[in-house]
Amino acid sequence: MKFHIITFGCQMNVHDSDWLTRALESRGWEVADENSAQVYILNTCSVRDKPEQKVYSELGRVAAHLKRDENMFAAVGGCVGQQIGKGFFERFPFVKLVFGSDGIANAPNALERIAEGADDRVALLDFVSIYEERENPEERTVTMPESRQAFVNIMQGCDNFCSYCIVPYTRGRQKSRHPEAVVEECRALVKSGVREITLLGQNVNSFGKDKGGVGVSFADLLHSVAGIEGLDRLRFTTSHPKDIAPEVKAAFGELENLCPSLHLPMQAGSDLVLKAMRRKYTIEHYLSIVDDLKKARPDISLTTDLIVGFPGETEEDFAQTLEMVERIGFESSFSFKYSDRPGVAAVNMEPKVEAKDAKERLMRLQTLQNNITKKCLENLEGRETVAFIEGKSRQQRGDYTWWKGRDPAGRIINVEMEESDGLVGLMVPVRITEAKNHSLLGKRIGKPW
Ligand code: SF4
Repeated sequence: MKFHIITFGCQMNVHDSDWLTRALESRGWEVADENSAQVYILNTCSVRDKPEQKVYSELGRVAAHLKRDENMFAAVGGCVGQQIGKGFFERFPFVKLVFGSDGIANAPNALERIAEGADDRVALLDFVSIYEERENPEERTVTMPESRQAFVNIMQGCDNFCSYCIVPYTRGRQKSRHPEAVVEECRALVKSGVREITLLGQNVNSFGKDKGGVGVSFADLLHSVAGIEGLDRLRFTTSHPKDIAPEVKAAFGELENLCPSLHLPMQAGSDLVLKAMRRKYTIEHYLSIVDDLKKARPDISLTTDLIVGFPGETEEDFAQTLEMVERIGFESSFSFKYSDRPGVAAVNMEPKVEAKDAKERLMRLQTLQNNITKKCLENLEGRETVAFIEGKSRQQRGDYTWWKGRDPAGRIINVEMEESDGLVGLMVPVRITEAKNHSLLGKRIGKPW
């Protein structure tokens, strides 16, 4: 069968689609473009605005392709798949499979059975309380990305129920993988040539604190993975401030290959708003984490997520967010206007912030952030670092080829080099020559390795 996966949303979804691709390929299925696929799989996200409408309109588009052959069909996975579930079967008869993130482990078999006619429709919507190991993680050895970077899932779901977030309802409660399975997968990846691993979970800091836990903390796991010989760079995301352990903060000063960057979602700078968001930390606590991290790793680069216009947010609350962003000096941030998502607690919270006020606050916040980002990058001019090359850059000046890489903190560095191919997946020593608004330019100062 020829299949085409359309992925929306976060890194976890990208990782799930990547795994599903490998699992189907191992059954002899073939990746195809949209015009020649026989099976369309939508891996969906419910975080952004009007998620269901986006999926419905995408299915409308897919329906046009499906007219080619009556054996063709579609599947809907991810958060909207979980939420609407069997509702897709009624509205779109060509949808034969729906699955949530807990059901994905069985999706390849279900797709195969449907393609063979053994099943007509399948719904994989049950939540599980123990992480179900997926088949063949070692298959990665065959499809090791050219970039030599990989993502490894360490857990699924979330127990936090922040008042604006749908994740605990769509991805279920938290379940950790067995630490040995994680380390084994990482070891196999490094053996195959991977040099950078990002450990993924909705809240990695609470790894092991659920039914799947075996007494190994996230800090222990970090030490085990960092100890794999040949692993040059280790990252992790996402990290809830209330759960970050002293040992995880200390690890930034202890583990050489743990990259000096942390994405630590602050969401708001006002304790009142944080309380309404049910984030379970105060600004004082958040600041103490920042202090500890900077003590452990003075060059650490901090990034964050921010929501503006949360119900009840006043001008004064918002001013506190601006103050915190400035005080901490986040290198970058993802900032969004709050909007109601059906099914979450914040929908019933009042008063709602006027759309025009939320828009204006977002603009002020993003202007401040852009200035801070620029200053942070300018401070790096003249420094030496190492760029891990990911591919060619869009830059097109000078005689040679521009390559795009990342420094250990994850900043983008564009470097002009004589080679026109063969550099992806190599480390290149560079000197930072110029700061742009959101990236750096560098000059090669040593041999790639
Ligand atoms: S920690 Fe909060 S925001 Fe993050 S996934 Fe869990 S509920 Fe959602």
